[in-house]
Amino acid sequence: MSLPLSHPALRAADPDLAALVAAEEQLQADTLRLIPSENYVSTAVLEASGTVLQNKYSEGYPGRRYYEGQQIIDQVERLAVTRARSLFGVDHANVQPYSGSPANLAVYLAFAQPGDPVMGMALPMGGHLTHGWGVSATGSWFRGIQYGVHRDTGLIDLDQVRDLALKERPKLIFCGGTALPRTIDFAAFAEIAQEAGALLVADIAHIAGLIAGGAHPSPVPHADIISTTTHKTLRGPRGAMLMARAEHAKAIDKAIFPGLQGGPHNQTTAAIAVALHEAAQPSFRDYSHAVVANAKSLASALLGHGYDLVSGGTDNHLILIDLTSKDVPGKIAAKALDRAGIVVNYNTVPYDPRKPFDPSGIRIGTPSLTSRGLTPDQMPAVAAWIDRAITASRTGDEPALAKIRAEVAELMAAHPAPGLPAG
Ligand SMILES: *Cc1c(COP(=O)(O)O)cnc(C)c1O
Repeated sequence: MSLPLSHPALRAADPDLAALVAAEEQLQADTLRLIPSENYVSTAVLEASGTVLQNKYSEGYPGRRYYEGQQIIDQVERLAVTRARSLFGVDHANVQPYSGSPANLAVYLAFAQPGDPVMGMALPMGGHLTHGWGVSATGSWFRGIQYGVHRDTGLIDLDQVRDLALKERPKLIFCGGTALPRTIDFAAFAEIAQEAGALLVADIAHIAGLIAGGAHPSPVPHADIISTTTHKTLRGPRGAMLMARAEHAKAIDKAIFPGLQGGPHNQTTAAIAVALHEAAQPSFRDYSHAVVANAKSLASALLGHGYDLVSGGTDNHLILIDLTSKDVPGKIAAKALDRAGIVVNYNTVPYDPRKPFDPSGIRIGTPSLTSRGLTPDQMPAVAAWIDRAITASRTGDEPALAKIRAEVAELMAAHPAPGLPAG
């Protein structure tokens, strides 16, 4: 089904770029997007992020700017901050970080010195680059101490976290990650951080929307600092926020500006405000619980097809499939799924014997398909497509992949995505 053309001014001014945007819209409409860090923002969020607010420079904070003409921008930022504080129940929110990675870097800048020990989950275990992994600035400018999961259960090894924390005395302990299918025990991390004299940073980038909707426990009051992106389950624009108790407000604000950034992206701040307003609605509670219900249904259907899931299933929006027993490398599976109209990413699994650029797993999640209104009773069909595509990838059966792609497009046409041009 062809989407109607939109963006008339862009088409007139730059047909080449407009054609690329239209093609991306069509791709997003036709495919089943299972990347757990992605979502579809609402038309309202899209509109806010495309406003003239982007024309304004506003270094500083509301009431304390280095440029004049802030009569409106101050109100926009205050609105976003107020909504963030109320949605997450925190004293302080900074909505200016350009994205999740700079937000995390600001936390280091605020609370650690170069060379200090800092602790986070190892990237191949499901952590994030910015939690002290070697190739990241956070791992080369600081001394990254990395924890992992139990080999047998796939669950975070809290004994290891505690032992390492007491031995190494890190300034910061990060919890949260990019491939964690299970509930994070913020209280247990807080206890360890307290014992070790570290600040606990809860990086809720992936699960912020679930927390806002009550589908995952909140890191409040356990974490000293909360870092989040706004564009994953929270369903806002690409951006980030840092939240904390009042005692850390000054340090965080100083680290973001002037420590790390210049002028905030006001159009993004506006779109964050819209997303926070949407996330405070009862329908978003339903959404976040539906994301989890879909993931659980999808996980159980995949188990039924004989797939190995890291930790045996999921508590949240994310499923990590270990394809070792299916004898298909993650990258081959991911590329075959892409040709079948099912968009995932290949991913390391804990203790992966393969290389990060060619690992054993794929990572999938349900935030996007839930935004399109798919329900748990439809997940067995999704699992069957995944299984057929992975089976086809083993034999290079391209016609089978093309057939799945057509079936997927038909279901997607019946479930239009938020934010895309509608007929
Ligand atoms: C996505 C993510 C980030 C980084 O966000 P970017 O906006 O991509 O820089 C940081 N931490 C975690 C846990 C994430 O999942």
